[in-house]
Amino acid sequence: MTHQIVSQAHLALRRTAAPVAPSEIPTREFQSLIDDMFRALYQCTSPRGMGLAAPQVGVSKRLFVVDLQQDGFQPICLVNPALVAAEGEAVSIEGCLSLPSFAGKVKRSASVTLTGQDRKGRARRIEASGLLAYCLQHELDHLNGVLYVDLAETVRPLADYRAPQKHARE
Ligand SMILES: [Zn+2]
Repeated sequence: MTHQIVSQAHLALRRTAAPVAPSEIPTREFQSLIDDMFRALYQCTSPRGMGLAAPQVGVSKRLFVVDLQQDGFQPICLVNPALVAAEGEAVSIEGCLSLPSFAGKVKRSASVTLTGQDRKGRARRIEASGLLAYCLQHELDHLNGVLYVDLAETVRPLADYRAPQKHARE
């Protein structure tokens, strides 16, 4: 695996990531990046990883992967995601694979619609609410150099939360 999760000090986490050209998506290098991102995500099991954006592996490009199979969703790889609709307000408790051992309450839209391309370059449109919606917003923020701690009211050690198994990192 070439791409590993980088520490919070990595500059890629604070940059606005670059759009991915359609011609780049089918290349072996780009496909390997996606595979590496899923592998890095699946290595995070305690608490489980739910999503990972390319800047988190030091690559400043606009894509992320999300896996909420435990919650009944198919794995998602979204390239050049764009938020096209957002409704309602909700509070989610979030952690981040780039900021281990902490979690915070973040105000999010209750439901969102994102467009983008899948790993084969096909147009995708995802409508989500609840956990998947929070996860998509968290990953999209990563592509704009925003971390959940920038938005959270409070950030505490994960151990302070009563049911830490419910909290996942993204
Ligand atoms: Zn994160």
